[in-house]
Amino acid sequence: MSTLKKILLRNAPTLLRGATSTAVQPNPDVSGGYNFALDDTQREVQALARKFAREDVLPVASHYDKTGEYPWPLVKKAWSLGLSNSHIPTQYGGMGQSTFNGCLITEEIAYACTGVGAGIEASSLGQKPVLLAGTEEQKRKYLGRLTEEPLVVSYAVTESGAGSDVNGLKTKAVKKGDEWILNGQKMWITGAGVANWYFVLARTDPDPKTPANRAFTGFIVEREWDGVTPGRKEINMGQRASDTRGITFEDVRVPKENVLLGEGEGFKIAMGAFDKTRPPIAAGATGLAHRALDEASKYALERKTFGVPIASHQAIAFMLADMAIGVETSRLLWQKAAWVADLGQRNSYEAAIAKCYACDTANKNASDAVQIFGGNGFNTEYPVEKLMRDAKIYQIYEGTSQIQHIVISRHIIDQAKRSN
Ligand SMILES: Cc1cc2nc3c(=O)[nH]c(=O)nc-3n(C[C@H](O)[C@H](O)[C@H](O)COP(=O)(O)OP(=O)(O)OC[C@H]3O[C@@H](n4cnc5c(N)ncnc54)[C@H](O)[C@@H]3O)c2cc1C
Repeated sequence: MSTLKKILLRNAPTLLRGATSTAVQPNPDVSGGYNFALDDTQREVQALARKFAREDVLPVASHYDKTGEYPWPLVKKAWSLGLSNSHIPTQYGGMGQSTFNGCLITEEIAYACTGVGAGIEASSLGQKPVLLAGTEEQKRKYLGRLTEEPLVVSYAVTESGAGSDVNGLKTKAVKKGDEWILNGQKMWITGAGVANWYFVLARTDPDPKTPANRAFTGFIVEREWDGVTPGRKEINMGQRASDTRGITFEDVRVPKENVLLGEGEGFKIAMGAFDKTRPPIAAGATGLAHRALDEASKYALERKTFGVPIASHQAIAFMLADMAIGVETSRLLWQKAAWVADLGQRNSYEAAIAKCYACDTANKNASDAVQIFGGNGFNTEYPVEKLMRDAKIYQIYEGTSQIQHIVISRHIIDQAKRSN
């Protein structure tokens, strides 16, 4: 039994008997309904993740960054502790943990290394379409599998010609009897070389005038099927432990049982997944931003110029203060976005704000940490240049910062129209 499962059995046994959410419960003693305290279970989950992150991940983060090896030993250990896939509902063998608790784990692991974190956790993006729209049979088969052994799943939507503009996807699937024949090429797919199965979005209506929310279908595609070929591992600027590749699909026969929800429903499912995964992305970015602050604070006390530690120079101290403001604000934002998700309400707006703000903060804090380290900050012997390289992708994947602005501004404008 995983360590996390033991914690849940001790503190909240009813949750493992079928309830799916451990969202923060408002404390009736606190006026106004707000409660910023973690409950006992959450504190233990956080402590378990922190111990794993600081003792197992942090010491080897630089090794995985330099070699680009996939961090299988850490992926396996996280799985055995219950720190990955904890969101899978209990009826499929999982622990039914809330988005909030998953984010607590993500932030801790990201503090140690966001590349390893992506190796451990990016898999949940590929699972979300199945969680959101899968049949009982699909969930039992494909999510259940992940609770039996440490397997990875990928979300295969982007192509070299279309990322933000999903409507431009060229991968297509054509119905032939009881099967769909899938052809096309995906690009930038996290975990593509190590995944057991993929969520694949393909155009199933060839008419270019058909709107996106009817033109695409989502499929579950197994790695071992004929015609599925992952490409070479891409050498990226940061998060190098994470496996990013293209995938070619050549006359892949997908049984109709592996269609998610129905023909033409894929776009909604693919986009809906982001509401659940943007809070964890924001939590990961918060972990990186916090690490940058801690590294910079330590260094600012050790490094002396003009006879005093650089922390005594107000310019440096105020940079640290701004970094702390960013960390605290980012954390509150992912917590709110996760909390709304756990209430079962639509959280696109809160998730986009959290993702955008926390990811920008991670970049600012990493860059400020490099500045505080001076010349040493630019050197690979010190930890902060890696943070700066790792941070950049947060503003790009799972919807760029510009795309988050589009989501947020549409929400605001829709609300303004409704109140007119
Ligand atoms: C390391 C890595 C891992 C990834 N993992 C996955 C994965 O697992 N699965 C997956 O499907 N994809 C994945 N991606 C792809 C990622 O989601 C896309 O790269 C991202 O969505 C941006 O798409 P693009 O690269 O085509 O850029 P483009 O869409 O071409 O955008 C280029 C620039 O234009 C801006 N832009 C685009 N449209 C607008 C607009 N309407 N208004 C204002 N600005 C705009 C963008 O913000 C960006 O700055 C990954 C990418 C990387 C690099």
